[in-house]
Amino acid sequence: MSRPVQLGRAYRCNLCGARVMVIRAATQALEPHCCNQPMEPLEPLRKLYRCAVCGSEVAVLYGDNGPLELICCHQLMGERPAPVPEAA
Ligand SMILES: [Zn+2]
Ligand SMILES: [Zn+2]
Repeated sequence: MSRPVQLGRAYRCNLCGARVMVIRAATQALEPHCCNQPMEPLEPLRKLYRCAVCGSEVAVLYGDNGPLELICCHQLMGERPAPVPEAA
């Protein structure tokens, strides 16, 4: 599969403009559809941040070019390594 389902990958519906993002890719069979047609994968993957203390993860939806500083557990969240497929 050339476009594996990955955490953080966003899709857009070309008909109604809906946008969705994968927050848990439990299977590679995940294939978002809207308006009775496959949704178009958007590039690039959204930037993800992870708290080294508690393991919380957040994804940036907009504004990932700005001076973004995410704080969790009283410390700066680090950029999460490149998303990997979560399917076993
Ligand atoms: Zn739609
Ligand atoms: Zn935390």
